[in-house]
Amino acid sequence: MSRLLVIGCGGVAQVAIQKCAQNSKVFTEMCLASRTVSKCDALKDKLEKKGCPVKITTATVNADDVKDLVKLIKEYQPDAVLNVALPYQDLTIMDACLECKVDYIDTANYEPEDTDEPVWRAAYEKRCKEKGFTAYFDYSYQWAYMDKFKEAGITGLLGTGFDPGVTSVFVAYAKKHYFDEINTVDILDCNGGDHGYAFATNFNPEINLREVSANGSYWEDGHWVETKPMEIKREYNFPEVGQKDMYLLHHEEIEALGRNFPEIKRIRFFMTFGQSYLDHMRCLEDVGMLSTTPIKFEGKDIVPIQFLKALLPDPASLGPRTVGKTNIGCIIRGVKDGKEKVIYIYNVCDHQECYKELGSQAISYTTGVPAMIGTSLVLTGQWKKPGVYTTDEFDPDPYMDMLNKFGLPWVVDENPVEVP
Ligand code: NDP
Repeated sequence: MSRLLVIGCGGVAQVAIQKCAQNSKVFTEMCLASRTVSKCDALKDKLEKKGCPVKITTATVNADDVKDLVKLIKEYQPDAVLNVALPYQDLTIMDACLECKVDYIDTANYEPEDTDEPVWRAAYEKRCKEKGFTAYFDYSYQWAYMDKFKEAGITGLLGTGFDPGVTSVFVAYAKKHYFDEINTVDILDCNGGDHGYAFATNFNPEINLREVSANGSYWEDGHWVETKPMEIKREYNFPEVGQKDMYLLHHEEIEALGRNFPEIKRIRFFMTFGQSYLDHMRCLEDVGMLSTTPIKFEGKDIVPIQFLKALLPDPASLGPRTVGKTNIGCIIRGVKDGKEKVIYIYNVCDHQECYKELGSQAISYTTGVPAMIGTSLVLTGQWKKPGVYTTDEFDPDPYMDMLNKFGLPWVVDENPVEVP
């Protein structure tokens, strides 16, 4: 029996909420709150028409405003808050949870909306020099809540999407059941889906394009090695998807895994991209459309990447047109009983199957399901531990069981091809 407050009602949220409704033994009441409340109302109607047993209410909230959040949390009195808005809101929602002493769960690492803000910029530049990677996001802002969350007796579960989220659970599971020591991890994110547009992003365009146009980096021998955007390319033949080009990116789970598993000598992250996507992105970047710095246009301030977002298809609308499969997983090399071994743990998800089940494409599906699972494990006490943690810091077994039960079954290949 529990009450959940969900913040955000975009592509990922819509899956997470519908999956919570399928797990109504744990989630008995939900408040769907977002900036545009009509999206919450429409989803409430859809669920109620299907006879959903969960008691659902909706609310408008500005998640950039701690006071507004605190007011809503005090009124609704939830047992946990699931943040599936944007990474920009992570800290304001964490502050509100702290003030109200409520557990907090999210799917993505904090990053600021305005990367030119002077105080943040100075700290960022210092961090780039000290740590050696230039991504706009890092865990320091959220890990800084550790003692405050401990004192308040509340759990903060960070990054329970697929990557990060499931990929980190795969590593913890491999360590628990397959290895005495892990030496290398390659995280592979392959989207073999085709939506028929020349260019569209599968989740929030602003967050997606920022991530993909940034420098790449990987973790090796206890430090970061940074690359130019798309500098390292590999080909891989993905089970059930086929041969794809993939590129090395910086990704947030590398930071957490590097800290929590100091034995791992190298951690890399690769994502597949088609040539059309890369050509469009490069062109948009060259003309300044990926910039987050406001410009004056006909007397108004506009942020180029936000304007671009308004032009691009809404990721939540790609569901009916996307065909094909995703394959996301980890190739892990290590030692068991004195012998070297390699395993590949992965999930394959079919875009059209997701659409038939929930009306969404597989990227939102593969993120929304783990968001529900992480929240459920916090609420049932299995993953409740005061402080702030990533998904690799808990017992992976109940999470892995729920992946099988709630639509993301996984496979362990004990003889995979490795990435050079
Ligand atoms: P969308 O843009 O589709 O949805 C974001 C939602 O948050 C919208 O409903 C939006 O409202 C709402 N929102 C934004 N700002 C505010 C605000 N200030 N106050 C209240 N509500 C707000 O994003 P996605 O669903 O694609 O992504 C959601 C999250 O999932 C992101 O953090 C993303 O980074 C993360 N993600 C994680 C992945 C993983 O594997 N870990 C993979 C993919 C995504 P409105 O409708 O008004 O715009």
